[in-house]
Amino acid sequence: MFMNFVQKRDMLLPIAKFGAPILRHRGIPVDLEDPGLQNLIENMWETMYHVNGCGLAAPQVNKSIRLFVVDSMPTYMQMEDAERNIVFDGDQGIKEVFINPVITSRSERIWWDEEGCLSIPGITLRISRSWSVSIRYFDDQLHERTRTFLGITARMIQHEYDHIEGKLFLDYLDAGRRLLLKNRFDRINRDDASGS
Ligand SMILES: [Zn+2]
Repeated sequence: MFMNFVQKRDMLLPIAKFGAPILRHRGIPVDLEDPGLQNLIENMWETMYHVNGCGLAAPQVNKSIRLFVVDSMPTYMQMEDAERNIVFDGDQGIKEVFINPVITSRSERIWWDEEGCLSIPGITLRISRSWSVSIRYFDDQLHERTRTFLGITARMIQHEYDHIEGKLFLDYLDAGRRLLLKNRFDRINRDDASGS
């Protein structure tokens, strides 16, 4: 039992928090033949579910590469029908790995909704995103695919895609609101450092 516990714990990866320089680096392409790739993907799922996330990008686990995972299905399951019909628009969510993705188009139609980020805990912000995106990528079987996603799934994809571009959702705020938040983060970081 103890061994199992240790193995499971070993799969959890530390999450880079706001202020870590790696969150500002543009990821380099993933080597599809890297023997550690499937293991990294598994650990990313494990880490993401452990902290109740719906998406996680490689730079958030200190790997500066173009890879992210998204699972919008639990969000679908938790929603009331009325809200679901709007933000999923007939879709039921996805669980998908995106390797070396390229967003090939974004709809002009935008919508606003609340987002959170595992690297910036405790903060949710209303962010505008394209309603739909088309994206070309390799899936976890290393098959190249091009698909179009809508609504909340497209929102999650755009959020994670920003991470591999070195961008954070705070970048969408104006300077005044960013400064207010920065003070709040500094406080959070100070509290973390003092162990309280
Ligand atoms: Zn994030």
